[in-house]
This record gives sequence, C-alpha cells and structure tokens, in this order.
Amino acid sequence: MPVLHRPETLDEACALLAECDHGMVYGGGTAVQILSKQGVLFASDLVDISRIPGLSGIKETADGLRIGAMTPLRAVETGSAARRVAPLAARVYGHVANPRVRNTASVGGNLAHGDYRLDPPTALLVLDAVVELTGPSGARRVPVREFFVGFQETAVRPGEIVTAVEVPAQPEAAGAGFTKLSSLSANDWPCASAAALVDGRARGLGRRGPAHLRLGLGAVASTPVFTEVELPGDATADDAAEAARTAVEPLIDPIPDVRGGVEYKTRLAFVAVDEAVRSAWKERSDERGFLSGRRRGR
Ligand SMILES: Cc1cc2nc3c(=O)[nH]c(=O)nc-3n(C[C@H](O)[C@H](O)[C@H](O)COP(=O)(O)OP(=O)(O)OC[C@H]3O[C@@H](n4cnc5c(N)ncnc54)[C@H](O)[C@@H]3O)c2cc1C
Repeated sequence: MPVLHRPETLDEACALLAECDHGMVYGGGTAVQILSKQGVLFASDLVDISRIPGLSGIKETADGLRIGAMTPLRAVETGSAARRVAPLAARVYGHVANPRVRNTASVGGNLAHGDYRLDPPTALLVLDAVVELTGPSGARRVPVREFFVGFQETAVRPGEIVTAVEVPAQPEAAGAGFTKLSSLSANDWPCASAAALVDGRARGLGRRGPAHLRLGLGAVASTPVFTEVELPGDATADDAAEAARTAVEPLIDPIPDVRGGVEYKTRLAFVAVDEAVRSAWKERSDERGFLSGRRRGR
C-alpha cells in the first residue's frame, strides 16, 4: 500500500514528490481509487493536495477565469462566474460522468489524468486555456494545446503539480456548441465528443467578415485534438460543417474498445463535429448583437 501524505503547503508537496521513489499526486481521487481497486496503482507514495490553501476556487480575472486545480468539476459547471465568462467550459464540465464524480473529481486531476477521452479539454482547447504547473524549480505555464503529448501522457514533469487553469473569456458574440456521443449509457465515457467555437459576425461596408471556427475533439484519437478553420464572410452553416469535416478528417484515428470499433467511432466523430458546428453557427450573433442579442450576464 502506498504511504499517504497530507502536506499543508505547495513547497512541502513538491519536496515530498521529489523525495519519493514513485510519488503520485492525489487530487479528487476518482481515478486513483479505481487504479487502486484494480491493483494497478504503481505508486510508493500518494501526496494528497486537498489541504493546501489557495488551490481551490474560481476567480474572475481581467482576461477570463483562473480555476484552482482542486476545484471540483461541479463548481465549474454550476459557478456563476464560469457560466457567465466561459459558458462553453461550464457546459462541457457538466457532461463529465455523473454528479457524484463531478463533485469529487478536480479540474487539475482531470487534466493530469491525461485520458484521450476526457471531455473538458475539448472546451479548453477551443478557448485557448493555459495550464499552470508548479514544481521544485518554480511555476511554468503550458497552453492546453501543448499539454497532451501522447497516449496517457501529458506535459506534467516528475515532481510537478497542476496548480491552476487559466481560461480566457469566451467572446460575447461567439457561438459555441458541444456534442458528446456515448454508446453504453448517457453518463459513460464518450465514443466521440466535439466542442466548436465560431466568432461573431463582423459587419461593415455592407458585407460580413470571415469567420474563424475552432474545434476541440475528445476520444477520436490517442490524445484530445484541436484544429481551426477560416471561412469566408458568405459561408453558410452547410459550408462550415463541410469545412469542419475536411479539417478533422486527418485527425480522426480512434482506438477500438468495448464501446465501438474504428469504423463506428469514426462515423460518430463526424456526427459529433457536424452537430457541434451547426449549433455553434446557430448560436453566434453579430458583433453588435443583432441576431441573438446574447450579452454576457443576461
Ligand atoms: C465512473 C467514471 C466515469 C467517468 N467518465 C468520464 C467522462 O465521461 N468524461 C471525462 O472527461 N472524464 C470521465 N471520468 C474521469 C474523471 O473525469 C477523472 O477520474 C477525474 O477527472 C480525475 O480527477 P481527480 O481529481 O479525481 O484525479 P485523481 O484520481 O486524484 O488523479 C488522477 C491522475 O492525475 C494525477 N493528479 C491529480 N491531481 C493532480 C494535480 N493537481 N497535479 C498533477 N497531477 C495530478 C494523479 O496523480 C493521477 O495520475 C470518469 C471517471 C469515472 C470514475
């Protein structure tokens, strides 16, 4: 059985991780507990970071949100600041598993878990979020787009702790969509999930400006993946869906398992992307709010 440590400061936690043979951070514990029950938790020591002050909570900043690593997923889903400043992120966090898991699992643990099927990275990728990591030599920041480096592998170095995630504010006129498709049950891991964000319509000189569409996908390859597309000002929802399909096609390389084979998951990936793009396209308003009148805080 691994030795459990409960440090009260970040310095103490980093020092413990550096000293242990195979130290592992214990966040919410939802994944660690499962590994332990399955007899595949290969850790000499567990460093529980729940007593360290300042690691939990959501703060509104000049640019968006700063979410502490120990913040439960449920707090992002339901928190008023998250829902107002980054509604896509709040929506996607609300799609993870079930309320019991979301009340226990932490934002930092979810990212550090590094599973290719995670839902939250889909939103964090399109919103261009940044992960803050703290280790023996101080803090560094890694864009979520560079965080997932391989199958079950993240940019977290030995001895480092995810301490926060910075999420830029979602542009007010942007349209956002999220689709998660699961084959076993609604609360289960996805076979494919897709988040889409399209900027608002710039109006001027009698024509609309080009649109920028960002896509974040989960479960369709060995890591969460991101791509983006520029669309002309006269593009329709069908054009956007077609361009998105072309952009994601080279990224889709699903891992077959009990939830579906490669062909099935590939088809679901295209369906998820199509639905997410169409719903984002429908939701976006023009920059002066003429179409939907959506304004932050309403
Ligand atoms: C039944 C079930 C269904 C699920 N379905 C989904 C789903 O549909 N979509 C989805 O996205 N996820 C799903 N999950 C995964 C869930 O999101 C993760 O288990 C959870 O987010 C992990 O967070 P945690 O805080 O509990 O991490 P822990 O279990 O504490 O840790 C997980 C890993 O991250 C490391 N770690 C934890 N915190 C940190 C930190 N701050 N810094 C560095 N490393 C850290 C640990 O050492 C460990 O390697 C499901 C989980 C369960 C149990």
